[in-house]
Amino acid sequence: MPELSKRTANFTDSVIRRMTRISNQYGAVNLSQGFPDFDPPKEILNRLAEVTREDFHQYSITWGAQNFREALAEKQSRLMGRQIDPNGEIVVTCGSTEAMMAAMMSVTNLGDKVIVFSPFYENYGADTILSGAEPIYVPLVPPEFNFDANVLEDAFRQHPKALILCNPSNPCGKVFTREELLLIADLAKKYDTFVITDEVYEHIIYAPYQHTYMASLPGMWERTISCSSLSKTYSITGWRLGYVIAPPKIIETVKKVHDFLTVGAAAPLQEAAVVGLKFGDDYYRGLQQEYTEKRDLFLKGLDDIGIQHTVPQGAYYIMLDVSEYGYASDLDLCEKLAQYVGVGAVPGSSFFREPENRYIRLHFAKRNDTLQKALDRLADIRTKLPRP
Ligand code: GLN
Repeated sequence: MPELSKRTANFTDSVIRRMTRISNQYGAVNLSQGFPDFDPPKEILNRLAEVTREDFHQYSITWGAQNFREALAEKQSRLMGRQIDPNGEIVVTCGSTEAMMAAMMSVTNLGDKVIVFSPFYENYGADTILSGAEPIYVPLVPPEFNFDANVLEDAFRQHPKALILCNPSNPCGKVFTREELLLIADLAKKYDTFVITDEVYEHIIYAPYQHTYMASLPGMWERTISCSSLSKTYSITGWRLGYVIAPPKIIETVKKVHDFLTVGAAAPLQEAAVVGLKFGDDYYRGLQQEYTEKRDLFLKGLDDIGIQHTVPQGAYYIMLDVSEYGYASDLDLCEKLAQYVGVGAVPGSSFFREPENRYIRLHFAKRNDTLQKALDRLADIRTKLPRP
């Protein structure tokens, strides 16, 4: 057989999605891959049922259905504090995963450097490799997950083409403060660098923290490529609806990449999701409240068991400190955890560039009874998890 591509030899399959398969194999409560086990809003599902009998079965416009882009522009204009043009400043993609990939391919040339904060969502590593770029990792140092401004500027001195910003952050739950974002923005302007954001958790924020859009900061609209999705906001991760928002000149290029990568996001699903994009502020307040309750329930449960953990400011992930169990491999620990304790988690090492083996990631986007079941199982972790 001829040799397969060199570019694919440099990364493995997704550890997150592998952990879902392992969880299923052992019948574990799967808190690894982050997706809800509760229903999306009724209004969206009802509209989906109607849409199946309407005329939405062929391609929509490649960069997104007109009414979807209009509804999205209206919502995001409100949030981002500027008038977004549905016709020139949006591309609808197959999830934020494609949005990020299209953004990377639109701005980087072979060998360009891209700054990635570590820990990071595993796709960013693969995105840089697939687009031929080279990551420069800047640590977010646990347990606070702060970065050193000098280390960041050192990274900028290598003249990266872009910086990837996941805010709120998966997996560490960090919500970047306005001051931190302004510092990043100043460096991006000083070194003439794009910022590609992943803001899929923009609506999952815990008081008193607040989300600031990088694109809304002074002078940043011009160089920010904002990527996000409907997956987390409307609990429809399987619908693969994401988008890129950026200035027209950038969008022109993203459109081309997107067109040849996927042609377009699913037409009937775009149509059904429009009602969600038109929800009022009360929907987002409700979502925030629900996730705050889940977070508090889960954190209290972990505290009662006496497991050390991070406290997320945003998103729905918790990092558990598992150093006391003495495993050399957190991947091994996660497999044993699924098999013997019955809870699916993601090994922290799959997010860190640094040799970090102390953490595993759990998520709490689950019904309260599912979370309680996981907590009941975790209560036995010290007796059931085999010694390495
Ligand atoms: N973003 C989610 C996570 O980190 C889902 C990842 C995925 O499989 N797309 O778990």
